[in-house]
Amino acid sequence: MNSAESAALALVCKERAWSEAQTSDEADLILLNTCSVRLTAESRVFGRIADYSGIKKKRKKPLTIVIAGCMAERLGESLIEKYPQVDYVMGTQARSLFPLILEAAEKGEKANINPEEKPVFSFSGSHLEEGQFRSFIPIMHGCNNFCSYCIVPYVRGREVSRSPENITEEMRLVARKGVREITLLGQNVNSYNWNDVDFSDLLKIVAQEAKLSGIRWVRFLSANPRNFSSKTIETLALNNCFCRHIHLPVQHGSNSVLKAMNRGYSRERFLELVNEIRQAMPGITLSTDILVGFPGETEEDVKETLGLMEEVKFLYSYMYHFNPREGTKAFDLKSRIDEDVKKERLSRVIDLQLKQTARLLEKRIGSTEIVLVEGISRKNADELITRTEKDEMAAVPGAKSLIGSFAKVTFSSLNGNTLKAKGAKPLCHGD
Ligand code: SF4
Repeated sequence: MNSAESAALALVCKERAWSEAQTSDEADLILLNTCSVRLTAESRVFGRIADYSGIKKKRKKPLTIVIAGCMAERLGESLIEKYPQVDYVMGTQARSLFPLILEAAEKGEKANINPEEKPVFSFSGSHLEEGQFRSFIPIMHGCNNFCSYCIVPYVRGREVSRSPENITEEMRLVARKGVREITLLGQNVNSYNWNDVDFSDLLKIVAQEAKLSGIRWVRFLSANPRNFSSKTIETLALNNCFCRHIHLPVQHGSNSVLKAMNRGYSRERFLELVNEIRQAMPGITLSTDILVGFPGETEEDVKETLGLMEEVKFLYSYMYHFNPREGTKAFDLKSRIDEDVKKERLSRVIDLQLKQTARLLEKRIGSTEIVLVEGISRKNADELITRTEKDEMAAVPGAKSLIGSFAKVTFSSLNGNTLKAKGAKPLCHGD
């Protein structure tokens, strides 16, 4: 979401003929689009603000500093009190103010923004980074779920859905610019609702539009297991533009922890959902988020999580340990887990996941798949890095001209968690 919003803000700059500075020293404006989900991300932003404030103090040429995103929403004007070199604090709801800020900076003036006035959130026109063949398309914003550890509902506000017309319009726009894969974005895409058009209805509309505009692959993020309906599964199964990979954040395997997290589903319901998805779409891969060390978590609870991982066999997981975020319900829970214990539990979860990923990928050796060629491998300049619809990465020797297009490859070996493949061939008609 943060990347998509950064791309949208960069586009506003380009539309007003601003260009990217090569270094912060030569910039006329510095925009930091921040994230509040983890404490570490916030700490890094404070460091950056201090650095940029230092640059501003030293130099003669004017410099406008804008802090955008979730931290701006959470901390508001207190950021300016702490760092007086910051000119504007533009929260997640206030992105529409950015053109005014740019206009004022162009004139060497200060934009007239009333901090008391609450701007209305609006989805901006395009979230496409220049030269990209994949694009994020936000379909909703905010979250009503209030998981007890999560800051998102406080910094992004309640759920707002984007109209299907607006979504298909952006699909057409990005398709004209050469995009072949889109990811529908939202904090909780399954609770999309626009005048009784629910997520599964929207998927039908998106599938139709994808066919018309030449978008081959459609993904979505994130799908909370709590609102994943059978109707949605049916729609996904019927339309092959939807990639056979779903990110399904389970967070934990123990019912008592899931309850304390206010996730709104049980371990049994999650496993039932996995079963339903796999029956409807055999071969689909699943990935997840796992949060260990939640207050009150017992050794038994950790075993439940490891057991669930063994049962589901996720292709990969984002794994992290609990970090209290002020303002959330879990912040006040007394039974916090010791840092070393959290780290030890997390390392067991990571070990298991790495083994499972390797096992799953090993089984893929010998298969031939269609991949989207994403770029040049960072480890070997002679190799291309590609991704399957199941979200598996494969490195393959091939011509740079294939970047941005679909190709067929055969997996030949496994290096760490990246498949090696051979014979990248452009797709033929009918593939
Ligand atoms: Fe946060 Fe829960 Fe909403 Fe996800 S579903 S954004 S974890 S409150």
